[in-house]
Amino acid sequence: MDTYNNLGDNIYESIEQGKFDDPKMPQKPSKDCPSCGNYQGIHNNNNFCPSCGTEIKTNYQKSVEEYQKKIKDYRKQCMAQIEKFKQAALSYVGVPIEHPKANKLFNMAWNNAHSEGLSGVVMEMEELSELLTLG
Ligand SMILES: [Zn+2]
Repeated sequence: MDTYNNLGDNIYESIEQGKFDDPKMPQKPSKDCPSCGNYQGIHNNNNFCPSCGTEIKTNYQKSVEEYQKKIKDYRKQCMAQIEKFKQAALSYVGVPIEHPKANKLFNMAWNNAHSEGLSGVVMEMEELSELLTLG
C-alpha cells in the first residue's frame, strides 16, 4: 500500500507511473436495442423496438440508473485521487497538510498549472511554496 509520503518522495515518478490517474470513466448506456442493435434511440412513448419487439424503455431506464450510480462512484474516486495527489504533492514540497495556507497553495497551483498536467502543478507548488517561507 502506497503511503502519501512515499508517493510524495518520488512524486514525478509516481505521476509517471499513473498513481494519480483518474479511474476509467463509465460508459454511457446505449440508446440502441440491446437485442438487434437496430433501434436508433429512445423517443416518445415507444416501449418496444420496432424492428424486433424487445422492450426498450425499461431496459434503458435500468441502464441509466446503473450508469448514474457508476458516475457517482467515478466522481468519488476522482476526488479521492485528487486528494491523494494533493497530500503527496504537499509532502513533496515540504508543506504540512495542516498548514493554514496548504489548501490555498494547492488550489492556486492547480488552477495555474493543471492544464500542463500534474507535474506542472507540482512545479508550480514548488515555486509558490517559497512564498510561504518568506514571512
Ligand atoms: Zn430490436
